[in-house]
Amino acid sequence: MRLINFVLVLAILVSGCTSGSSGNSTPTAEDAKKFMDDVNDTLFKLGLEASQAGWVSETYITDDTSALFARANQRLIDKTAQYAKEAVRFDKVDVAPDIRRQLNILKVSLVMATPSNPKEGEELTKIAADLDATYGKGKWCEDPKKSESCLDINQISDILRDSQDEKKLRQVWEGWHTISLPMRKEYTRFVELSNKGAKELGFADSGAMWRSKYDMSPEDFTKELDRLWTQVRPLYLKLHAYVRMKLREKYGDVVPANGPLPAHLLGNIWAQDWSNVYPLVKPANADKGYDLTSILKARKTSPVDMVKTGERFYTSIGFPSLPKTFWDRSMLVKPRDREVVCHASAWDVDNVEDLRIKMCIQPNDEDFNTIHHELGHNFYQRAYKDLPVIFRDSANDGFHEAIGDTIALSVTPEYLVKIGLLDKAPDTSRDIGLLLHKALEKIAFLPFGLLIDQWRWKVFSGEVKPEDYNKAWWDLRLKYQGVAPVSPRGEDFFDPGAKYHVPGNVPYTRYFLADILQFQFHRALAQTAGCTSALNRCSIYQSGEAGKKLNDMLSMGLSKPWPEALDKIAGSKQMDATAILDYFKPLDAWLDEQIKGKPVGW
Ligand SMILES: [Zn+2]
Repeated sequence: MRLINFVLVLAILVSGCTSGSSGNSTPTAEDAKKFMDDVNDTLFKLGLEASQAGWVSETYITDDTSALFARANQRLIDKTAQYAKEAVRFDKVDVAPDIRRQLNILKVSLVMATPSNPKEGEELTKIAADLDATYGKGKWCEDPKKSESCLDINQISDILRDSQDEKKLRQVWEGWHTISLPMRKEYTRFVELSNKGAKELGFADSGAMWRSKYDMSPEDFTKELDRLWTQVRPLYLKLHAYVRMKLREKYGDVVPANGPLPAHLLGNIWAQDWSNVYPLVKPANADKGYDLTSILKARKTSPVDMVKTGERFYTSIGFPSLPKTFWDRSMLVKPRDREVVCHASAWDVDNVEDLRIKMCIQPNDEDFNTIHHELGHNFYQRAYKDLPVIFRDSANDGFHEAIGDTIALSVTPEYLVKIGLLDKAPDTSRDIGLLLHKALEKIAFLPFGLLIDQWRWKVFSGEVKPEDYNKAWWDLRLKYQGVAPVSPRGEDFFDPGAKYHVPGNVPYTRYFLADILQFQFHRALAQTAGCTSALNRCSIYQSGEAGKKLNDMLSMGLSKPWPEALDKIAGSKQMDATAILDYFKPLDAWLDEQIKGKPVGW
């Protein structure tokens, strides 16, 4: 579920300080334009090389392809870093608004800034690579002497999904959290050095640098997140209380009657998506009544057919078909003869039309959804292809993740009937089952989507000291998620490192934003499509009008502040979680009944 855009999305490194003055004469607006033309040109060329090498390295993993990719990537990173420093020259020049925005984006496009001291810069780059590799190679071995007892993240995830043996779940959960032990010392140093680099660029710390990408002050952005969370928190509390009650029926006293949920019993190693516990919590008489996985399997639907079905959704609302090269160059199934990275991703290799997805598709419900998600990235990428290269990105990083999920919200039972995958849509008495399943995925995720960066921002700002890393992590998980470990997690552990995005240094707030935005988009587009039924039964399939509205927004790329892009679809410049509340309204009322007289909160 990644987006690959090698021009801007990378963890770009700045290897020098910005304060150096060139000593030349004062630059002009004309110079600024020339500079940006050069930036756009060069990043386009280097981005293409890095993408091509990146594609090969992920679909044909060998030492050579990795080296080729690392080299191409380093060239792109070095050049971007150089440009970001040079952009400061035009700070006081009166330039056209369009050029000013390009210069600003260039300066905040960095995820990690290395200090100007070359030794420190090199040290930080190495630590970043080490942390990433430690996670990537992470395995837990029940018996370290027997390599066959070692489990990687996929095998651990399978157990968390399938097992209902409390002891086994606990053992595996604790096992996975040993992979991050070696990271603690390096992460502490990583924070010091990356802050130093961010300060040299004029930011208070790395967290402030991340928060500066949202067309508002870092302080206002933080308040904005609080506001959105306050809107959805009551619904989360009810879902939490209900799931706790049902898990207590299943697992007994290990689940407290009125305390936090045990971290290992939610069907997911980070308790970020609870849909795997649906069988334990499903409503008695309102199960959704069909299973897309069985349907796809029974029909022997091929991966290509699944992707064609996804494409047909987008073309039904007016988007042009995917280019022939998409079908020639995408990787849709796991090759039998070589190692590949199966983790789903969407690519725009040449930043124009060379769209691809890379997946190891299986005929199941989850992959059917993921296909719609990845294609959302591809159609977004193509919609903004005519903009200057630096604008070829989403309005903010939450938007890119939200588009495909917005379309996936239109994959309703009625839609499945229309395309012939289902004979008859379940009647509305089944809505609670459908909504509960969706809530276990989307509502359960919200506090998790928020807390990762709450922790990181405090760590970067120094509010949380290294000696409290783990305590602060679990304090936040308790505060936001109401989730706690069953065994003490002292400072000898480093539990944040057991989640990829921390050692991988990938900002996480985008996923929280995407979770909010997709419902806001869905509600607005469903209205445009003239849907009058309950929101969870609305599909914008075949609505040219909804498609036009969507395309108007996508084609703006990053050229305008995100509130203007949001306004194009939602008719409002403010993010708004009330669409979530509208969507889940029937479930909210049902949850009230289920938890009547039961404790809520922790
Ligand atoms: Zn994605």
